[in-house]
Amino acid sequence: MSDHHGFEQSLLHNGLDFILEGMIKLGEDNVRSKKYALLNIYSGFLLVMKELLRREHWSLLFNKRKEPNFKDFQNGDFESIGIKDTISRLKNVIGLELTKEFEFELEKIRKIRNRIEHFEFSESSTVFESLSVKAVIEVLEFISEHIDTEEILENEKQALQKIREQLGVNIRLVEENTKRANLEVRNGQLLLTCYLCDQKFLEVENGAYCYFCHEKNDDPNDAANLYFNKHSAYMDYHPKHNPVVEDSYIDCPSCGFETCVVDEDSLYSCFTCGGSSRDGRWDKCSHCQRMFCPEEQEMICNFCFEEKMAHD
Ligand SMILES: [Zn+2]
Ligand SMILES: [Zn+2]
Ligand SMILES: [Zn+2]
Repeated sequence: MSDHHGFEQSLLHNGLDFILEGMIKLGEDNVRSKKYALLNIYSGFLLVMKELLRREHWSLLFNKRKEPNFKDFQNGDFESIGIKDTISRLKNVIGLELTKEFEFELEKIRKIRNRIEHFEFSESSTVFESLSVKAVIEVLEFISEHIDTEEILENEKQALQKIREQLGVNIRLVEENTKRANLEVRNGQLLLTCYLCDQKFLEVENGAYCYFCHEKNDDPNDAANLYFNKHSAYMDYHPKHNPVVEDSYIDCPSCGFETCVVDEDSLYSCFTCGGSSRDGRWDKCSHCQRMFCPEEQEMICNFCFEEKMAHD
Protein backbone atom coordinates (compact mmCIF):
# COMPACT_ATOMS: atom_id res chain seq x y z
CA MET A 1 0.00 0.00 0.00
CA SER A 2 2.66 2.48 -0.96
CA ASP A 3 1.34 4.07 -4.06
CA HIS A 4 -0.98 6.41 -5.79
CA HIS A 5 -4.02 6.13 -3.59
CA GLY A 6 -3.91 9.75 -2.62
CA PHE A 7 -3.87 9.11 1.08
CA GLU A 8 -4.54 12.68 2.03
CA GLN A 9 -7.92 12.24 0.38
CA SER A 10 -10.73 9.94 1.20
CA LEU A 11 -9.96 6.24 1.15
CA LEU A 12 -13.66 5.62 0.80
CA HIS A 13 -13.79 6.44 -2.87
CA ASN A 14 -10.76 4.31 -3.65
CA GLY A 15 -12.23 1.47 -1.65
CA LEU A 16 -15.58 1.67 -3.43
CA ASP A 17 -13.79 1.85 -6.77
CA PHE A 18 -11.85 -1.33 -6.02
CA ILE A 19 -15.03 -3.08 -5.01
CA LEU A 20 -16.92 -2.01 -8.10
CA GLU A 21 -14.05 -2.99 -10.36
CA GLY A 22 -14.00 -6.40 -8.70
CA MET A 23 -17.73 -6.84 -9.03
CA ILE A 24 -17.56 -6.13 -12.76
CA LYS A 25 -14.65 -8.56 -13.16
CA LEU A 26 -16.74 -11.19 -11.44
CA GLY A 27 -19.03 -11.23 -14.45
CA GLU A 28 -16.18 -12.23 -16.78
CA ASP A 29 -16.27 -15.82 -17.80
CA ASN A 30 -12.98 -17.15 -16.47
CA VAL A 31 -11.74 -18.34 -13.10
CA ARG A 32 -8.72 -16.04 -13.07
CA SER A 33 -10.83 -12.91 -13.40
CA LYS A 34 -13.17 -14.11 -10.71
CA LYS A 35 -10.25 -14.79 -8.40
CA TYR A 36 -8.92 -11.26 -8.88
CA ALA A 37 -12.44 -9.95 -8.49
CA LEU A 38 -12.50 -11.38 -4.99
CA LEU A 39 -9.08 -9.94 -4.18
CA ASN A 40 -10.21 -6.52 -5.41
CA ILE A 41 -13.29 -6.63 -3.27
CA TYR A 42 -11.28 -7.60 -0.21
CA SER A 43 -8.80 -4.76 -0.80
CA GLY A 44 -11.67 -2.34 -1.24
CA PHE A 45 -13.30 -3.51 1.96
CA LEU A 46 -10.07 -2.91 3.86
CA LEU A 47 -9.80 0.63 2.44
CA VAL A 48 -13.37 1.40 3.46
CA MET A 49 -12.56 0.36 7.01
CA LYS A 50 -9.34 2.34 6.98
CA GLU A 51 -11.25 5.46 5.99
CA LEU A 52 -12.76 5.51 9.46
CA LEU A 53 -9.25 5.43 10.96
CA ARG A 54 -8.09 8.19 8.62
CA ARG A 55 -11.02 10.37 9.69
CA GLU A 56 -9.91 9.95 13.30
CA HIS A 57 -6.23 10.60 12.59
CA TRP A 58 -4.00 9.86 9.61
CA SER A 59 -1.28 8.39 11.81
CA LEU A 60 -3.56 5.46 12.64
CA LEU A 61 -2.89 4.06 9.17
CA PHE A 62 0.81 3.63 9.90
CA ASN A 63 2.26 0.28 10.69
CA LYS A 64 3.78 0.13 14.17
CA ARG A 65 7.22 -0.51 12.72
CA LYS A 66 7.64 3.04 11.52
CA GLU A 67 7.16 6.38 13.24
CA PRO A 68 4.21 8.20 11.57
CA ASN A 69 5.35 11.08 9.40
CA PHE A 70 2.91 13.46 7.71
CA LYS A 71 5.05 13.96 4.60
CA ASP A 72 5.23 10.20 4.07
CA PHE A 73 1.51 10.00 4.59
CA GLN A 74 0.83 12.66 1.95
CA ASN A 75 3.08 10.89 -0.51
CA GLY A 76 1.54 7.55 0.32
CA ASP A 77 5.07 6.46 1.11
CA PHE A 78 4.54 4.20 4.11
CA GLU A 79 3.70 0.70 5.11
CA SER A 80 0.09 0.55 6.09
CA ILE A 81 -1.66 -1.77 8.52
CA GLY A 82 -3.38 -5.05 7.67
CA ILE A 83 -6.84 -6.32 8.51
CA LYS A 84 -5.94 -7.38 12.06
CA ASP A 85 -4.53 -4.01 13.13
CA THR A 86 -7.31 -2.19 11.31
CA ILE A 87 -9.93 -4.03 13.32
CA SER A 88 -8.12 -3.65 16.60
CA ARG A 89 -7.68 0.11 16.05
CA LEU A 90 -11.30 0.52 14.97
CA LYS A 91 -12.32 -1.10 18.22
CA ASN A 92 -9.71 0.09 20.66
CA VAL A 93 -8.92 3.58 19.38
CA ILE A 94 -12.19 4.70 17.83
CA GLY A 95 -14.42 2.60 20.03
CA LEU A 96 -16.35 1.12 17.14
CA GLU A 97 -18.65 -1.67 18.23
CA LEU A 98 -18.09 -4.62 15.98
CA THR A 99 -20.11 -7.77 16.43
CA LYS A 100 -18.43 -11.10 17.04
CA GLU A 101 -19.97 -12.39 13.80
CA PHE A 102 -18.48 -9.50 11.85
CA GLU A 103 -15.02 -10.20 13.21
CA PHE A 104 -15.32 -13.88 12.38
CA GLU A 105 -16.42 -12.92 8.89
CA LEU A 106 -13.32 -10.75 8.51
CA GLU A 107 -11.10 -13.45 9.92
CA LYS A 108 -12.44 -15.75 7.24
CA ILE A 109 -11.76 -13.11 4.61
CA ARG A 110 -8.23 -12.64 5.90
CA LYS A 111 -7.49 -16.34 5.69
CA ILE A 112 -8.88 -16.76 2.19
CA ARG A 113 -7.04 -13.70 0.99
CA ASN A 114 -3.78 -15.07 2.31
CA ARG A 115 -4.40 -18.33 0.56
CA ILE A 116 -5.21 -16.65 -2.74
CA GLU A 117 -2.17 -14.40 -2.49
CA HIS A 118 0.09 -17.35 -1.88
CA PHE A 119 -1.36 -19.14 -4.90
CA GLU A 120 -2.71 -22.05 -2.94
CA PHE A 121 -6.17 -21.27 -4.16
CA SER A 122 -7.24 -23.17 -7.23
CA GLU A 123 -10.94 -23.39 -6.63
CA SER A 124 -13.79 -23.29 -9.07
CA SER A 125 -15.33 -20.02 -10.19
CA THR A 126 -18.46 -20.64 -8.14
CA VAL A 127 -16.39 -20.34 -4.96
CA PHE A 128 -15.20 -16.87 -5.93
CA GLU A 129 -18.70 -15.80 -6.97
CA SER A 130 -20.19 -16.92 -3.71
CA LEU A 131 -17.49 -15.36 -1.51
CA SER A 132 -17.45 -12.11 -3.50
CA VAL A 133 -21.17 -11.56 -3.17
CA LYS A 134 -21.02 -12.30 0.54
CA ALA A 135 -18.14 -9.88 0.99
CA VAL A 136 -19.95 -7.07 -0.87
CA ILE A 137 -23.06 -7.55 1.25
CA GLU A 138 -20.81 -7.36 4.30
CA VAL A 139 -19.23 -4.07 3.10
CA LEU A 140 -22.60 -2.50 2.40
CA GLU A 141 -23.75 -3.43 5.88
CA PHE A 142 -20.56 -2.02 7.38
CA ILE A 143 -21.04 1.24 5.50
CA SER A 144 -24.67 1.63 6.46
CA GLU A 145 -23.82 1.02 10.09
CA HIS A 146 -20.70 3.12 10.46
CA ILE A 147 -20.64 5.78 7.74
CA ASP A 148 -23.17 8.56 7.34
CA THR A 149 -23.88 8.27 3.62
CA GLU A 150 -25.64 11.65 3.61
CA GLU A 151 -22.31 13.25 4.43
CA ILE A 152 -20.11 11.58 1.84
CA LEU A 153 -18.85 13.16 -1.39
CA GLU A 154 -20.90 13.10 -4.56
CA ASN A 155 -18.53 10.72 -6.39
CA GLU A 156 -18.63 8.37 -3.41
CA LYS A 157 -22.40 8.39 -3.47
CA GLN A 158 -22.35 7.52 -7.14
CA ALA A 159 -19.89 4.67 -6.63
CA LEU A 160 -22.04 3.31 -3.84
CA GLN A 161 -25.07 3.47 -6.07
CA LYS A 162 -23.26 1.59 -8.85
CA ILE A 163 -22.21 -1.08 -6.37
CA ARG A 164 -25.81 -1.62 -5.33
CA GLU A 165 -26.85 -1.95 -8.97
CA GLN A 166 -24.04 -4.34 -9.78
CA LEU A 167 -24.85 -6.43 -6.71
CA GLY A 168 -28.10 -7.50 -8.33
CA VAL A 169 -26.18 -8.73 -11.37
CA ASN A 170 -23.69 -10.62 -9.22
CA ILE A 171 -26.34 -12.15 -7.01
CA ARG A 172 -27.90 -13.66 -10.11
CA LEU A 173 -24.64 -15.55 -10.78
CA VAL A 174 -24.94 -17.11 -7.36
CA GLU A 175 -28.64 -17.79 -7.77
CA GLU A 176 -28.01 -19.70 -11.00
CA ASN A 177 -25.66 -22.00 -9.13
CA THR A 178 -28.01 -22.32 -6.20
CA LYS A 179 -30.78 -23.43 -8.54
CA ARG A 180 -28.55 -25.96 -10.25
CA ALA A 181 -27.25 -27.28 -6.92
CA ASN A 182 -30.77 -27.60 -5.55
CA LEU A 183 -31.70 -29.82 -8.45
CA GLU A 184 -28.79 -32.14 -7.70
CA VAL A 185 -29.36 -32.50 -3.97
CA ARG A 186 -30.82 -35.80 -2.84
CA ASN A 187 -34.08 -35.44 -1.02
CA GLY A 188 -33.79 -35.16 2.74
CA GLN A 189 -30.01 -35.16 2.62
CA LEU A 190 -28.29 -33.34 5.47
CA LEU A 191 -26.35 -30.36 4.15
CA LEU A 192 -23.80 -28.34 6.07
CA THR A 193 -22.13 -25.08 5.12
CA CYS A 194 -19.25 -25.70 2.71
CA TYR A 195 -15.80 -24.81 4.03
CA LEU A 196 -14.86 -23.35 0.63
CA CYS A 197 -17.82 -21.53 -0.89
CA ASP A 198 -19.72 -20.86 2.33
CA GLN A 199 -22.96 -22.17 0.84
CA LYS A 200 -25.11 -24.68 2.67
CA PHE A 201 -24.62 -27.44 0.12
CA LEU A 202 -22.04 -29.69 1.73
CA GLU A 203 -23.02 -33.33 1.88
CA VAL A 204 -20.99 -35.30 4.39
CA GLU A 205 -20.53 -39.04 4.03
CA ASN A 206 -17.29 -40.81 3.15
CA GLY A 207 -15.74 -37.36 3.16
CA ALA A 208 -17.52 -34.34 1.77
CA TYR A 209 -19.07 -33.16 -1.46
CA CYS A 210 -20.43 -29.70 -2.20
CA TYR A 211 -23.30 -29.41 -4.66
CA PHE A 212 -22.64 -25.71 -5.06
CA CYS A 213 -18.91 -25.54 -5.83
CA HIS A 214 -18.27 -29.27 -6.54
CA GLU A 215 -15.58 -29.51 -3.88
CA LYS A 216 -14.97 -33.21 -3.30
CA ASN A 217 -12.89 -34.65 -0.48
CA ASP A 218 -12.72 -38.41 -0.08
CA ASP A 219 -10.84 -38.31 3.20
CA PRO A 220 -13.35 -38.10 6.07
CA ASN A 221 -10.68 -36.99 8.57
CA ASP A 222 -9.39 -34.26 6.34
CA ALA A 223 -12.87 -33.09 5.37
CA ALA A 224 -13.96 -33.02 9.01
CA ASN A 225 -10.90 -30.96 9.93
CA LEU A 226 -11.37 -28.50 7.09
CA TYR A 227 -15.00 -28.09 7.98
CA PHE A 228 -14.38 -27.69 11.67
CA ASN A 229 -11.48 -25.24 11.31
CA LYS A 230 -13.55 -23.07 9.04
CA HIS A 231 -16.72 -23.00 11.07
CA SER A 232 -15.61 -23.47 14.64
CA ALA A 233 -15.42 -19.72 15.06
CA TYR A 234 -19.21 -19.61 14.97
CA MET A 235 -19.76 -22.44 17.32
CA ASP A 236 -20.22 -22.66 21.01
CA TYR A 237 -17.36 -25.12 21.06
CA HIS A 238 -14.57 -22.83 20.04
CA PRO A 239 -11.10 -24.26 20.68
CA LYS A 240 -9.97 -20.90 22.04
CA HIS A 241 -13.09 -19.74 23.80
CA ASN A 242 -14.41 -23.02 25.03
CA PRO A 243 -12.31 -25.21 27.28
CA VAL A 244 -14.17 -28.40 26.29
CA VAL A 245 -12.04 -28.88 23.20
CA GLU A 246 -12.14 -32.66 23.35
CA ASP A 247 -15.90 -32.51 22.94
CA SER A 248 -15.55 -30.99 19.49
CA TYR A 249 -14.52 -34.32 17.96
CA ILE A 250 -16.10 -37.52 19.20
CA ASP A 251 -16.02 -41.17 18.20
CA CYS A 252 -19.06 -41.56 16.03
CA PRO A 253 -21.81 -43.40 17.92
CA SER A 254 -22.81 -45.14 14.69
CA CYS A 255 -19.60 -46.02 12.86
CA GLY A 256 -17.00 -45.57 15.58
CA PHE A 257 -14.63 -43.35 13.60
CA GLU A 258 -13.43 -40.13 15.19
CA THR A 259 -14.80 -38.08 12.33
CA CYS A 260 -17.83 -36.83 14.17
CA VAL A 261 -17.59 -33.09 14.83
CA VAL A 262 -19.69 -30.36 16.30
CA ASP A 263 -21.34 -28.67 13.36
CA GLU A 264 -22.69 -25.18 12.78
CA ASP A 265 -25.93 -25.99 14.60
CA SER A 266 -23.99 -27.20 17.67
CA LEU A 267 -25.04 -30.75 16.78
CA TYR A 268 -22.78 -33.65 15.82
CA SER A 269 -22.27 -34.80 12.24
CA CYS A 270 -20.13 -37.68 11.08
CA PHE A 271 -17.98 -37.27 7.96
CA THR A 272 -17.60 -41.03 7.57
CA CYS A 273 -21.08 -42.52 7.83
CA GLY A 274 -23.11 -39.34 7.40
CA GLY A 275 -24.85 -39.90 10.72
CA SER A 276 -25.98 -36.90 12.75
CA SER A 277 -27.28 -36.28 16.22
CA ARG A 278 -30.24 -34.54 14.58
CA ASP A 279 -31.50 -37.90 13.28
CA GLY A 280 -32.64 -38.73 16.81
CA ARG A 281 -30.81 -42.06 16.76
CA TRP A 282 -28.17 -40.96 19.22
CA ASP A 283 -28.52 -40.15 22.86
CA LYS A 284 -26.37 -38.78 25.62
CA CYS A 285 -25.29 -41.43 28.08
CA SER A 286 -26.84 -40.52 31.42
CA HIS A 287 -23.68 -41.68 33.14
CA CYS A 288 -20.66 -40.40 31.16
CA GLN A 289 -22.57 -37.82 29.06
CA ARG A 290 -20.96 -39.11 25.88
CA MET A 291 -23.01 -39.51 22.73
CA PHE A 292 -23.97 -43.10 21.98
CA CYS A 293 -26.35 -45.06 19.80
CA PRO A 294 -28.92 -46.88 21.97
CA GLU A 295 -30.03 -50.23 20.64
CA GLU A 296 -33.17 -50.41 22.74
CA GLN A 297 -33.88 -47.24 24.66
CA GLU A 298 -31.13 -47.96 27.20
CA MET A 299 -29.96 -44.87 29.08
CA ILE A 300 -26.26 -45.63 29.40
CA CYS A 301 -23.65 -46.47 26.80
CA ASN A 302 -22.03 -49.88 26.35
CA PHE A 303 -18.84 -48.64 27.90
CA CYS A 304 -20.53 -47.50 31.10
CA PHE A 305 -22.71 -50.60 31.14
CA GLU A 306 -19.71 -52.89 31.02
CA GLU A 307 -17.91 -50.91 33.66
CA LYS A 308 -20.96 -51.08 35.88
CA MET A 309 -21.21 -54.83 35.42
CA ALA A 310 -17.53 -55.23 36.30
CA HIS A 311 -18.06 -53.36 39.57
CA ASP A 312 -21.33 -55.02 40.58
ZN1 LIG B 1 -18.85 -25.43 -1.74
ZN1 LIG C 1 -20.11 -42.22 11.68
ZN1 LIG D 1 -21.43 -43.72 29.15
